[in-house]
Amino acid sequence: MRYSSKTGMSAKLALRGGVGIVVAEGGYRSFPALSSLPPLRRSLWPYLLGTGSSTSVALTFDDGPDPKSTPLFIKELERLGVKATFFVLGEMAERYPYTLQELQNAGHEIALHGNWHRNHLFRSARSIRYDMERSYATVSEIASSAPIFFRPPYGVITRPTLATAAQLGLRTVLWGTWGRDWRKMTTPSSVMKDLKSNLEPGCTVLLHDSDCTSYPGSYRATLAALPELAEVCAQNNLRLVPLADHGF
Ligand SMILES: [Zn+2]
Repeated sequence: MRYSSKTGMSAKLALRGGVGIVVAEGGYRSFPALSSLPPLRRSLWPYLLGTGSSTSVALTFDDGPDPKSTPLFIKELERLGVKATFFVLGEMAERYPYTLQELQNAGHEIALHGNWHRNHLFRSARSIRYDMERSYATVSEIASSAPIFFRPPYGVITRPTLATAAQLGLRTVLWGTWGRDWRKMTTPSSVMKDLKSNLEPGCTVLLHDSDCTSYPGSYRATLAALPELAEVCAQNNLRLVPLADHGF
């Protein structure tokens, strides 16, 4: 399917308790990619991919807040007049609360990426619940508002992931296209090339505003790709928006 051919990695579909779905976020230490879904699972797909209004594209970033890089994204998005959704890690928020507040003060949407960047596939239900509840409490307190959206690390969703998200009132959202910006060889043009291969009205874009789980410095290519992404969307009359404005 769309990701496996590009990553060249082995595909995986995990069924844990009948609900588990595995998608790859990539990750520079290598992770699997989605290959195929049985027909019944496909009905979940547009929902999980964050497919929204055909007049917009949702811009999302994972892995921050990072004082080294996130402020640069805030500045560039301000210059471009764009608001986005940031899926933050609880442990990063605990360490850098001011950076999270900077994001929020700049008008961006804060969403959850879990507390630690760990694959749910290899974790117990209890551990997943603890991780998600802890990050929910941390981020809600620092941001003074509760997040609405959740994206698990590596895009790996299991039954406990969905159950805990439901308990916390979180909607799980993956992505429809990505810039594969965690890799060593990432450049602004490679980010745009990968994004454009699946960029379409209503899709959700995945990028990273921190290199804490990526190749060191890879965020620079992401940052440099933003003007072209904004331009491509404008040329196609697509609003670049946070998930809250994506018409779910
Ligand atoms: Zn991540």
